[in-house]
Amino acid sequence: MRIAVLSDIHSNLVALDAVLAKIGAVDAIWHLGDVVGYGAQPDEVVERLSTLGAIGVRGNHDAAATGATDISWFNPEARAAMEWTQSAIAEPTRTWLAALPQRRSDGDFTLVHGSPRDPTWEYVTSAALARAGLSAITTEHGLHGHTHVPIAFTQVDGRMRTLAPRAGNTVALGEGRTLLNPGSVGQPRDGDPRASYLILDTEARTATWGRASYDIDAAASLIRAAGLPGRLADRLRVGA
Ligand code: ZN
Repeated sequence: MRIAVLSDIHSNLVALDAVLAKIGAVDAIWHLGDVVGYGAQPDEVVERLSTLGAIGVRGNHDAAATGATDISWFNPEARAAMEWTQSAIAEPTRTWLAALPQRRSDGDFTLVHGSPRDPTWEYVTSAALARAGLSAITTEHGLHGHTHVPIAFTQVDGRMRTLAPRAGNTVALGEGRTLLNPGSVGQPRDGDPRASYLILDTEARTATWGRASYDIDAAASLIRAAGLPGRLADRLRVGA
């Protein structure tokens, strides 16, 4: 099976469609939450994922969009964008988001947004946190997002190996347990503005990162036209 793993799409349909065009045919699409928030096309992104039969988990922005979590924790831009999202989304979008679980397992993989210990809020930013995350799941591998930065942690003989993957880098799934972050489709923060994604090959037992260029100006214009904070448009250009 060839599975596309997408995270933190953040209502950026232009970026999502560029990724879908680049990856071509896949057997499944898994998303790791934060489908909405920040960007200008929440309904369109949810409709696209729903049409493609994507399965996934709920992020903190998805929870906020449906009123399931308090947005006083959000920074001012995220909060402004969330208030816009809450009032902009159609009922089918709200229903689809509200049905997302906090975690799910499929085969050898557990999917979460933040971390296996705290799927909504915790950021996995270190090998120590990755180790704690792996000990909180029973599957061989874990997939997470939330930081918007692609990273791979592999546990070999009790030690954690860390890789900051670039486009085309592959991690072997047979060498040890892994906790993998595909990076962000809709708002990358690792200094590369291209949409980031991960492809799992369950026969070859590999995970390979990829990047897709997209029309950033188009996505930025939609953000400004919607009256969302201008910095949310500007940051797409720098990927930070
Ligand atoms: Zn996010």
